Amino acid sequence: MKKNKTKMYADIISLHNEVTGSCIICTVRFPNKEKIRFLVDCGLFQEEKYQLQNFSFPFDPKEINFVLVTHNHIDHVGRLPKLYKDGFTGNIYASKITSMLMPLALYNTAEILSYSFQKNPNKYKKIIEDASVPVFFNNDVLYDSKDVEGMLNNVIGKEYNQSFKITEHISATFIPNAHLLGAASILITITYKSEEPIYLYFTGDYAVNNRLFDVEENNKIYNLPINIIQESTYGTTSIDTINHTFKNDILSSIKNKETCIVTVFSQGRAQEIPYELKKMQNEGILNPSIPIYADGKLSFSYTDFYLKHKEFLKKDEIVQNFLPHNFHYVSDNLEREKLLADRSCKIILTTSGMGNYGPAQTYLPYYITRPKCSIIFCGYTTPESLGGKLKQVERYDTFNLNGLMVKRVAKIFSTNEFSGHAKKEELLDFLKKFSNIKSVIINHGNTDVKENYAREVINKISPKDVAILDNKNYIRIYAYGIAKTFNAPDMNILPRHRIKEKELF
Ligand SMILES: [Zn+2]
Ligand SMILES: [Zn+2]
Repeated sequence: MKKNKTKMYADIISLHNEVTGSCIICTVRFPNKEKIRFLVDCGLFQEEKYQLQNFSFPFDPKEINFVLVTHNHIDHVGRLPKLYKDGFTGNIYASKITSMLMPLALYNTAEILSYSFQKNPNKYKKIIEDASVPVFFNNDVLYDSKDVEGMLNNVIGKEYNQSFKITEHISATFIPNAHLLGAASILITITYKSEEPIYLYFTGDYAVNNRLFDVEENNKIYNLPINIIQESTYGTTSIDTINHTFKNDILSSIKNKETCIVTVFSQGRAQEIPYELKKMQNEGILNPSIPIYADGKLSFSYTDFYLKHKEFLKKDEIVQNFLPHNFHYVSDNLEREKLLADRSCKIILTTSGMGNYGPAQTYLPYYITRPKCSIIFCGYTTPESLGGKLKQVERYDTFNLNGLMVKRVAKIFSTNEFSGHAKKEELLDFLKKFSNIKSVIINHGNTDVKENYAREVINKISPKDVAILDNKNYIRIYAYGIAKTFNAPDMNILPRHRIKEKELF
């Protein structure tokens, strides 16, 4: 590690330790004493244990110069209105598509947040039932729709693969990424006079390909002397362990004339699963007379967006018209109740993916006790979520469901084939494309996964330095790579115990 105090450098640290609440703080210092501080993402913490962290920032939002957004998942954008409410006035840059999608997620979240249980229980109950966004509640309102509106006024949508200047010395490029429609990896280029530039590459949540849209590769990045901040959600999961069971599970359920419940995330899975079902209908293996229902208000908005913007999707005939035959939206409680009473064979797609929010809270407790039912989880579920809890119960065992003792009778399946994150081999293959890596900084994974994946990177890629991004250490980066890491004060702070900004930076 070299020392050169006169050169520019960037210090990076994250607010999140693991997977949700994504927010990377990057402070760039130039020899002329100029300081630029920006964020990459500003997401909600979704786990209950981190809930209170949603209510404050361990820095002054007024001092953030700008924000870059990787993609429209609530754990990456859900605290932007809070940042605005607390005084941030800078620009928020996102890909053009993400800038169009963000209002859907954020107004929905504000709507959920704006009703407190004490004020209007009935209205609150309805909102919670319809909610597809997992957020926790508190007597404080985190933000409201006015904050969302103000924040959205500062959003600037940018085309993919076109570098744009943000400040005199900092420019950025959004590079297409298959994680989600609109998702981008972000290249930051920092220059100062005749100094060697610093290149920071934030992969964001990253996937290699997507069922519904193509990604255009950017070959210009591979020869840069680069520092890669790489996600590692599935950094220890081998591609060989992916089970492609969805098709068979659906078909065996239909063969038994069951009701088949599939839990979906509002954006992504809620469009990919109908596409898979349509393919099965076209292949002649799924009878189109079996009705398919979709439930979850926010998922309808996203599906509508996809169908209105077919120019963003693959040109393939099935993708362009991905809704299967005999597909129906469940538009209100009455229809939902009718559906619950109906004993005939059908498929129901419901939000939320983990079962904790949205109409899944009605379907899962009801169907878990019923014969002639299969429940398919096609996304990750945390162990504390409703889906995670149900998965742990053996069939025909009696268990405690929110205080009620019930017997699990339904069949439960889960598949990881729809995951929007690259697996270990894909993450390593991505790194192999670069010829001049200065450092790899492992981000966005459970603590043990990040460290184990870091070992893989050291063994298979051998970059000069490998570091772990979390809220405990700053990583100082010069043009030649990492200079050092150093401890940060405890960032796990609660409201009203805000650490003074100067203590942190
Ligand atoms: Zn994501
Ligand atoms: Zn994420």
